[in-house]
Amino acid sequence: MTHPSGLGLAPGHRVKWIDGRIAVEADDDRSRLRAALERNLVAGDGGHTLILGGQIRAHLRPPAHVEPLTAFEARFLADNNVPLSLPTGTPAFSPRTDLHTHFAGALPGRLLVELAAATEGVTVPRGVLAEAGIDARQDVPAAALTALARDRLARSLDVPLDQQITFQDMERLYARRSPLTKHPRLFVPQLWAIARGFAATGVHYAELSLSTAVEPEILAALHASLDSIEADSGVRLRFLVAMSRHDDLEWDLDVLDRLEQCLPSRAIAGVDIMGHETCSTRAFVPVLERAGALGRARPGFVVRVHAGENPAFPENVREAVRALLPFPGIEIRIGHGLYGVDGETLASMARNSDRVIVEFNLTSNLALNNIQTTLQVPLRRYVDAGVSAVLGSDGAGLYGTSAADEARAALACGLDEPRLAWLRHTEDLLLKRRQENERPQPALRDWLPPLPLPRRHFTPARAAELAARRGSVRAAQEQRLSQLGATVTNEAPVLTGRPLLWLAGAWRHAFAAWSPEEIRTTSGILTDVLRGLASRGGLLLTGGTCHGMEGLSHGLAAQVGVDVLGAIVEETLAEDLDARVQTFWRCARSLYEKAAPVVRLVRDANGLGLFLGGGLIVADEQQAAHNLRARHVLLSGLRGAAVDAARASQHVRFVDDAASILAALDDTRPWGQLRYPGPNDAADVVLIRRGPLGDDELLLIRRHDDSDAAAGRMSLPGGFVHPGEAPRDAAVRELLEETGLRMPASALSPVAIVEGGGRDPRDTEERWVRSHVFAVRMDGEDATPHGASGNLVLGGSDAAAALFVSIAHRPRLAFDHDSLVTQALAVLSRG
Ligand SMILES: [Zn+2]
Repeated sequence: MTHPSGLGLAPGHRVKWIDGRIAVEADDDRSRLRAALERNLVAGDGGHTLILGGQIRAHLRPPAHVEPLTAFEARFLADNNVPLSLPTGTPAFSPRTDLHTHFAGALPGRLLVELAAATEGVTVPRGVLAEAGIDARQDVPAAALTALARDRLARSLDVPLDQQITFQDMERLYARRSPLTKHPRLFVPQLWAIARGFAATGVHYAELSLSTAVEPEILAALHASLDSIEADSGVRLRFLVAMSRHDDLEWDLDVLDRLEQCLPSRAIAGVDIMGHETCSTRAFVPVLERAGALGRARPGFVVRVHAGENPAFPENVREAVRALLPFPGIEIRIGHGLYGVDGETLASMARNSDRVIVEFNLTSNLALNNIQTTLQVPLRRYVDAGVSAVLGSDGAGLYGTSAADEARAALACGLDEPRLAWLRHTEDLLLKRRQENERPQPALRDWLPPLPLPRRHFTPARAAELAARRGSVRAAQEQRLSQLGATVTNEAPVLTGRPLLWLAGAWRHAFAAWSPEEIRTTSGILTDVLRGLASRGGLLLTGGTCHGMEGLSHGLAAQVGVDVLGAIVEETLAEDLDARVQTFWRCARSLYEKAAPVVRLVRDANGLGLFLGGGLIVADEQQAAHNLRARHVLLSGLRGAAVDAARASQHVRFVDDAASILAALDDTRPWGQLRYPGPNDAADVVLIRRGPLGDDELLLIRRHDDSDAAAGRMSLPGGFVHPGEAPRDAAVRELLEETGLRMPASALSPVAIVEGGGRDPRDTEERWVRSHVFAVRMDGEDATPHGASGNLVLGGSDAAAALFVSIAHRPRLAFDHDSLVTQALAVLSRG
């Protein structure tokens, strides 16, 4: 059976049959989803059905039927190489609200471009076109763009389906969208399109976050249009005034003053504190308290805090709840809430379930790599504790999702139908309360927004003062740099094949807390590493300041003759710059925007990141390194928020001496090349337990994304035998390192020794892997390993994740591991 044009199984991906085999064609030829689809798609029934993970996704005999992958499924498959078994079709529960969405992300790029092209006087800036790969000499009217250009532009406005992006990439997408989303002529047309989009997916109440919602023209437009939009589409749209976690406090206090003027407006439901979670909720408690006080005059006033989106600030959910609970009039919302919620906070959220709601946004969490597997989502934990919870989209258009798709994702994250009913219950209560809260307010058409009062806090004088301060920081930096005679560049430096070691770690305060012993040990290791770097003609990349690990490493680098490249930002203070740095690269405006450009440089230069403890900025850099797939390791034995965050998100790779750091740095040979000529011994373990549901379960690991073979796939725990080590001891050690499970060597039964025959992609004529396979059954007390929660095992260092899966429903494994499992089961059953 042939489909010449191909079958659209996921956006930008078409399935074709070529010579009776399945081939997947992708718009982007670097698509990771394409490879994952090709590996997992099976044609059944003579090529008339397409099966993915045991599920029929397309049926080609009349009536032909295709179940395209949702953004969540597509991304999960691309990341894990294992399909998720989501139920297809519309689930019994589909959200009727979207409380967590952002105005500028609500529409897909395609619709935004269509609206722009259909509206007179909308031009697209040349820079935005250039980012979409469209060459233009000037800004171009949207209506004049060719179909091809519109298509490209539209695609450049959405989060790609299978590439990891960072928070900054996401902010860049919003910036790229802004000439369209912020265009005055497109404001009302967008409202209509958003409402129609919601209506089509069954959502009839939505709250959109928008920073300009209380500006006079915007508010007037809302009051003039929201009633007719609701009458026509059946969708009620309301707005939250967006403020950033990183705003100047004075700025936010003025916004809240303006909000107080606008409290009678039905269009405004409350405020939203959002933005990159690289600061503590404690930093803006005064803003929260001022917002909380508004609930007295306006019952049900919403105060939402984006918190717990990543593991960097574990106190953020707790602190938001604690700061807001004393204000009885408000409705408290926690946006995301993935990380850091402790039992006590959970209990207080449950006790106040009538006015505290957690909003999950699963597709967005996966897209920004804040979760790697569905097992990491604590949704069920919240629901079982009795906390009110809803599902949001975080911008359905941007992430390519919908309310129904989020419900399917929630099923994959452990919510069964009864628990989903609890979400329905939350929605019902909320909608009822919203009706009651709006009743005393004047009708939309009966209230006109007053003119804004002059700013009280962020006065022109204060603004000038802040601008002057920033200007003088910049001027002092320039002056100091020219004094130092260092080379300064604003563009990412070109590194011509020199080994690059990027060092990030404890700075000022975090470093001041180190013991003399910690400093001595780390300095020793660092000296050896830098000596090795010097002998390789390598370059050291740091933050360029004289404090903490950076200052220490610059001293050591000078001793051993290593050049230093310092990545600074516009706000780096002159007095912090280190004179021992030869070249400075000004890579961003502020510290919290620094991670993405630095990590990109490291990745593109095939360098290695070495993390040495540190606080939250370092945690952000680690997360960016993971998202962008830059090689990185953490030195073990150090403390700090960055180490805690890396552990919590399970993508750490610890090293403990200079030799292994240098080995990681050297490991730039083409991936897949083995170390020794002849056989390279390895050990693999088939570990079986009786699972909580009574069926036998197999312990699997998900291989690191930067593994040298079968990256990202599921496989048996195992690894290479160290020189002088017995294969059985290697099996015990690898099991412990990768999964945290300790088994006595005597418990392991030998199964087979396998090699050759193309079983390992790294094999060549000259070098190949020889695997010693062992089997073990874990019983009784052992069956609940320390550090395990449900089927997720924590504590692994070499594996990205370790988990137990039912043997009967296990995914297809990497290498020849499926056959090894079969052989091991035979050995175990002989007993
Ligand atoms: Zn959000």
